Amino acid sequence: MSMHFTTAIRGNFFDMAACVDQPQQLEHALRHIPDGLLLLNGGTIVWHGSWQQGEALLPAGFEVVDYRGKLIVPGFVDTHIHYPQTEMIGAYGEQLLSWLQQYTFPTESQYGCEQHAARMSAFFLQQLLNNGTTTALVFGTVHPQSVNALFEQAAGLNMRLIAGKVMMDRHAPEALLETPAQSYQQTRELILRWHGKQRLGYAITPRFAPTSTPELLAQVQRLREEFPDVYLHTHLSENPDEVAWVKDLFPEHSGYLDVYHQYGLTGDKSVFAHCLHLEEAEWDCLCDTHSSIAFCPTSNLFLGSGLFDMQKAWHKRVKVGVGTDVGAGTTFNMLQTLGEAYKVGQLQRYKLSACEAFYHATLGGARALGLDAHIGNFNVGKEADFVVLDPAVSPLQKLRHENSRKLAEQLFILMTLGDDRNIYRTYVDGKVVYQAGESKVAA
Ligand SMILES: [Zn+2]
Repeated sequence: MSMHFTTAIRGNFFDMAACVDQPQQLEHALRHIPDGLLLLNGGTIVWHGSWQQGEALLPAGFEVVDYRGKLIVPGFVDTHIHYPQTEMIGAYGEQLLSWLQQYTFPTESQYGCEQHAARMSAFFLQQLLNNGTTTALVFGTVHPQSVNALFEQAAGLNMRLIAGKVMMDRHAPEALLETPAQSYQQTRELILRWHGKQRLGYAITPRFAPTSTPELLAQVQRLREEFPDVYLHTHLSENPDEVAWVKDLFPEHSGYLDVYHQYGLTGDKSVFAHCLHLEEAEWDCLCDTHSSIAFCPTSNLFLGSGLFDMQKAWHKRVKVGVGTDVGAGTTFNMLQTLGEAYKVGQLQRYKLSACEAFYHATLGGARALGLDAHIGNFNVGKEADFVVLDPAVSPLQKLRHENSRKLAEQLFILMTLGDDRNIYRTYVDGKVVYQAGESKVAA
């Protein structure tokens, strides 16, 4: 066997070898190589296996990056986050609709300024990488310059990132509103400029049904038909008052999701954040249209929105990824987010295993975004986006880690006690883009 590679990495590797449709299949998909080797050719994985098998592939004197003692997992996939809300994380005292009016809209109105958008894009991407997140599906603001700034910087890192400008023509402050024609035109230009450039993808991003007139939704539909391989990213059924409002605004539709569905916005490139108060027919519609859900536990708890029913999602065979939903979510960190997902499960007598949690945060999230052929595990041919975790960084973590033997227990401790301190290295496109102790992204 002969192959070309530029980087060799040794360590303790954990990933999921294949996508699953039922939680019972997770254990079979789990792949753990305690002393493993990963070979990269630039940004592509060309070999993965045990050190024992792989050592012979290395020419004499080839430098091996040695991460023994650390745990290497695929890069985290955040399936729902708002970059302009980074600066308003932790806003006190409101639930969804008043939280939007009081905090979100005033913050988002600053993103017409290119310098501000550029500064916050840099901060945002840095936060993703510091937390081991290598792919995200991101909301901008209504301003095209908000996503131009974000895409420019993500392109500089060659990240696999999907984003879109908000589309919104009612029920927000005047300065954030646009006409349906403007919204169509600006979105169209952004799609042509960014979708498929390097590893970037575009998501058509109507904020949610209440801020969309039927005329705007018709323009969204037109874009979907014109660009069938572009994503659709929006919110669905987050808060009971919101659900009631949608029923008032769209009385001719049978329910919240039916508004999106009738405008052709469901489908295998569609990601709906939250989905907490779905009716039976809505679950079936998500399944039938191969749409995906972004489960955002810290946001759902912080805004008091409700509890996501993971068991139902498995039962209805709907694809699920995990989102932090910053700034309603309270952390960029996927370990902390998984810890909260576990608690959401506990409140409904659902035991979220560490294996399942890490699946949703990596390969499952990639599948929810239709990216599982490119990212999500260490299969040969995949893109080299991964995280090196330090499994024990605090005295409490060390104490607890020493008492744990099995991988499942170590992962569960990480999602219970872990945070950004546990991120030792982040790799994007085969390159180190974050190192613990360094505050700047490596250029
Ligand atoms: Zn959101």
